[in-house]
Amino acid sequence: MFNSKIIIGGDKFDSKDSKRVVIKSPTDGSEIGTTELATKEQVDEAFKSAKQAKDGWMNTPLYEKYQIFKKISDELNERKQEIAKLITEEISKPLKDSISEVERSADFILSVAELKRSQNGKSNSGDSMKGYLKNQKTSIVEMIPVGVVLCISPFNYPINLSVSKIAPALIGGNTVVFKPSSQGSLSGYILAEIFNKYLPSGVINFITGAGSEIGDYLIEHEDLDMINFTGSTEVGQHIKKISKVPYLLELGGKDFAIVSNNANIEKSVKQIVQGAFSYSGQRCTAVKSVLVIDSIYEEFMTMLKEETMKLTVGNPIDNTNISCLINMKAADFAEELANEAIAKGAKPSWEPKREDNLVYPLILEVSDITTRILFEEQFAPILPVYKVSSIDEAIHLANRSKYGLQADVFTNDINEAFNMARKLEVGTVQINGKSDRGPDNFPFLGIKASGSGTQGIEESIKAMQREKVIVINL
Ligand code: NAP
Repeated sequence: MFNSKIIIGGDKFDSKDSKRVVIKSPTDGSEIGTTELATKEQVDEAFKSAKQAKDGWMNTPLYEKYQIFKKISDELNERKQEIAKLITEEISKPLKDSISEVERSADFILSVAELKRSQNGKSNSGDSMKGYLKNQKTSIVEMIPVGVVLCISPFNYPINLSVSKIAPALIGGNTVVFKPSSQGSLSGYILAEIFNKYLPSGVINFITGAGSEIGDYLIEHEDLDMINFTGSTEVGQHIKKISKVPYLLELGGKDFAIVSNNANIEKSVKQIVQGAFSYSGQRCTAVKSVLVIDSIYEEFMTMLKEETMKLTVGNPIDNTNISCLINMKAADFAEELANEAIAKGAKPSWEPKREDNLVYPLILEVSDITTRILFEEQFAPILPVYKVSSIDEAIHLANRSKYGLQADVFTNDINEAFNMARKLEVGTVQINGKSDRGPDNFPFLGIKASGSGTQGIEESIKAMQREKVIVINL
């Protein structure tokens, strides 16, 4: 059994209430480890520790920060097999994807450090503005940390979506209170331990406990300067409502793939199947609805079913494409959406199949536009497809979504692709490729119910800093 701890001020603690929960494998229900339930007093201590460490860390030379980040990145790479195995056990992710999650995170840590190391501040001269011609003003603009950042991550990328917050926050001079998803907290603990090993005490603090119980206390904490959150739209909107500090939110998505009659059908199908079914559809940027032009619909559907039938189902340690969903609630929800669609006349590609929280891949040919799965985030390996008679109709439907993360357009006509990309109301449009977060040096953002603010290597550092202007009057 792997027993994680709370980390405050560089030291490790049990819950002051002696309360902990057992983390079970979604794959076979076996007990993997325990995670501590932090008390409010421990949350206070974590913020106090982050606040106390703030000045020392902010003033640590960038070269020293870079050396620390390099060691953290190296250790992640050295321990990638061990960490990936734990991710796979804890969240039922195919082992090879868990390994690439760790590798990508190690690369991210080094990349933010390298970028920050090469960044320079700027200065402005006042003589470009009328009214300031006589007195010579020069400003020096420094980027300084916002202070203490609360980083909250979701279950589906327990290392990568934690690193993508923690690393840019720290390299920008902030200190951190990190709260992982409960299912994912064992992997999160290893990550926090590695950061803590190389950082000065209190620069990173690690708090575990149910979001529903300590979440509000964390979000409303008086020693907090900013929130960087990834998770569901529901919790994100709650944060928007009660937060008194700035926030970056990466929330739910409903990425539409639109397939034009000018598309390479074979390529579109391969991309859509990968996009919809990898990690059993539990990705914010999974392809979650497909809109296909009527003239190619039959050919597309035949190929889509053939490709989907090739997916393997089973234990993620064996790198099967489809494995158990994170919990029974997630599988119940997926089944509810599939049943509702079928009741509304949707044609399933084959008999739907589910064993406990293992949901088998399914395609639903939807014909009723009010069918919930066309617009709700299923987070499961069930893909709705809807036939449209024009690209305008497809864009109109995709833009009806409350979400606005990504959309994919498949066409070999570059003008059509650009026209579609410009009209789609999302953060990112992929042309002839599946939705994807990354490469991490690309800006990543969701609009509408999909988030607030922009992330990315450069963008995340900037978003967790602010300008400090010093004016010299000659
Ligand atoms: P979730 O249920 O919203 O949980 C996310 C995090 O918030 C967890 O750490 C959770 O802790 C915590 N939390 C729960 N209630 C809270 C509260 N009241 N206050 C503060 N924190 C609270 O989401 P999830 O199921 O882990 O992740 C799946 C969702 O995340 C999907 O909607 C997916 O689309 C979205 N997502 C978006 C992106 C993106 O980049 N846009 C990336 C990945 C995932 P507990 O686990 O302890 O409850």
